[in-house]
Amino acid sequence: RFITFEGGEGAGKSTQVGRLVERLRERHLEVVQTREPGGSQGAEEIRAIALNGDAGRWSPMTETMLMFAARSDHLEKTIRPALEAGRWVVCDRFADSSRAYQGAGGGAPEAFIESLDAAIVGATQPDLTLIFDLPVEIGLERAFGRGLFETRFESKGLEFHERLRRRFLEIAKEKSDRCVVIDAVGDEEAVAARVWAAVEGRLL
Ligand code: C5P
Repeated sequence: RFITFEGGEGAGKSTQVGRLVERLRERHLEVVQTREPGGSQGAEEIRAIALNGDAGRWSPMTETMLMFAARSDHLEKTIRPALEAGRWVVCDRFADSSRAYQGAGGGAPEAFIESLDAAIVGATQPDLTLIFDLPVEIGLERAFGRGLFETRFESKGLEFHERLRRRFLEIAKEKSDRCVVIDAVGDEEAVAARVWAAVEGRLL
């Protein structure tokens, strides 16, 4: 089983990934927790190249290829071996983040992203994608509060983050076979209950 978490800044994905993994392990399931960009040694090295440095250092096309290069290594070294061994894989961000960030946010052509997805992700599509949705202002406030807000995103402005949010919701509709929108407003317990309901309903 392959589960991905998606959404904008400050949606609380990472906390909820940890909680879900714990809960699945309580059920004696073997679970690999991972993230993107990253999740394998090579992909973590590419993450440092892709995310560090000034906003606009990479063109949207180049950034897309860096993300898919990382994803390719992550799939080869971590995700596919785990799935083939019968483990569950829970991943914090995956290809829908490229559709939103590099595509809707950065302006990389959709057809380019889809051709890379077909070549690199191929049949290894998630069984379930949880799209964390919340108003941009609330997400950015949470991200700033944690001190995690990367300088490269401060310059992007609200409109950039609104485009991401719209694209994620559009993806949820286009790919409704695997996507569930999670209302990410509210406290951690409430959101965890929504996540569990989606996973239990679809995969257990
Ligand atoms: O998951 P997290 O929000 O920590 O992601 C790290 C950073 O990488 C985020 O700021 C996100 O905006 C960025 N990112 C990106 N393109 C992707 C995936 C992540 O710009 N495809």
